[in-house]
Amino acid sequence: MNTQPRSAEKTTPYWWEAAPVGPAPDQSLASSVDVAILGAGYAGLSAALTLVRAGRSVAVFDAMNPGEGASSRNGGITSGGIRPSFATLTRKFSEKTALEIEAEGKRAREFLYDFLQDEGINCDFKLTGLFRGALGYDQYDDMARSAEGLARRLGVESYAVPHAEQRDYIGTDFYRGGVVRKDIGGLHPAKFHAGLLRVALAAGVAVHSHTPVSTIARDGARFEVTSAAGKITAQQVLVCTNGYTDSAAPFLRRRLVPVRSRIIVTEELAPDLMARLMPKGMMMGENRQLGFYYRPTPDGTRVLLGGRDSSWVGDPVAPTLRLRDGLVELFPELKDVRLAHSWFGNVAMNRDMLPRLFERDGVVYASGFCGSGVVWAPWLGRNAALRLMGDKSHGRTVFDFRPPAAVPFYNGTPWFIPALIRGFGLQDRFAFWRARR
Ligand SMILES: Cc1cc2nc3c(=O)[nH]c(=O)nc-3n(C[C@H](O)[C@H](O)[C@H](O)COP(=O)(O)OP(=O)(O)OC[C@H]3O[C@@H](n4cnc5c(N)ncnc54)[C@H](O)[C@@H]3O)c2cc1C
Repeated sequence: MNTQPRSAEKTTPYWWEAAPVGPAPDQSLASSVDVAILGAGYAGLSAALTLVRAGRSVAVFDAMNPGEGASSRNGGITSGGIRPSFATLTRKFSEKTALEIEAEGKRAREFLYDFLQDEGINCDFKLTGLFRGALGYDQYDDMARSAEGLARRLGVESYAVPHAEQRDYIGTDFYRGGVVRKDIGGLHPAKFHAGLLRVALAAGVAVHSHTPVSTIARDGARFEVTSAAGKITAQQVLVCTNGYTDSAAPFLRRRLVPVRSRIIVTEELAPDLMARLMPKGMMMGENRQLGFYYRPTPDGTRVLLGGRDSSWVGDPVAPTLRLRDGLVELFPELKDVRLAHSWFGNVAMNRDMLPRLFERDGVVYASGFCGSGVVWAPWLGRNAALRLMGDKSHGRTVFDFRPPAAVPFYNGTPWFIPALIRGFGLQDRFAFWRARR
């Protein structure tokens, strides 16, 4: 008898209820195109749209349904975040580069918001702001200083929320205050992807669903791309496979570790309970290595919470239960809540945790979004397209530099994930203990 507690009603993304993924309309495969693109997520489609509108012929291949990778599974938080802190980036590169990275995040977010409006993509986007909780008072002081720096450097509305005022933002005493930044919001990721796909198809992009590419071979100045639907000749190739990169892109595969991120969504909650837990309807986050990101669903009726998943094969129940425990630790009022959905998808981590646009042997790659691709993937997809067209000024991005370093002893099988996650868990416990001493 199965004695494990029931984890969630459904193992499919909540988002697919309103915007199910499915194959793009069948199109015959051209014998040659200007650009072949691997991956029909945000990055691949954004690149394809830019290229087609500039008069290039494009074929996009996806091994699954378009969007079935991370682009219809994510939390929909438009963070445009960078994992290393401003101080770390300054130490590693220079203050100038750290500033450029921060400023590019601002431009990329604005690009996304303008794009949604200009293309008429209705994906429940709201510029709600994001609250980030502090584990202890020292962390709160650091975060308050960072919020002040962000406001000064970028003109972004961002401010500290002391512990005494925290309940105006979030119905928990778990944190010791936090910070808010107002340039981040939330959208329905699958509706966003469906809208992007609609616009791309209308512009003339050919999207081949369930058509994995198996090899990319150089043939003089051109490439021969072999897919499940046949071979195609392309002048240029762009790889946008991110956390789903397979043996078709071996160079990238040794550099990106796919890490599962999992999301749970509660059953519908009473309006007064939702108003207590998330009074301002903001996006939420925190700074633990295995910290959570969470938000109300766009209709404001449920809580959605995501975090790292320690598994790398199968669909074990333990990661769902860990997220559920985390949810209840934040919101003890939810101790008896039922979960409607629990699902996972892959985010792509590289060693330095910075997104990348780079070229190797003539093939261009846009990937390594480290869990923040709602903003970065459309942006770097578009920049990749501009780079392919030789538009150096508009395609310029601070993330266009050497490829990420290869991960030692790694060829695509992330066997070390459970140990890594355990290590992060220990670091978090130690950090929490120090924060609360
Ligand atoms: C659970 C979860 C929560 C997340 N939450 C957030 C969030 O709140 N905010 C945020 O900014 N980001 C978030 N992210 C990250 C974000 O979703 C991704 O960074 C973004 O969707 C990446 O888009 P992409 O186009 O690069 O890749 P994907 O959408 O993953 O698309 C890659 C595609 O490549 C295809 N592919 C792979 N190999 C081949 C091949 N050989 N031939 C053809 N096709 C191939 C795959 O089938 C796949 O569809 C989250 C991710 C996950 C999984």
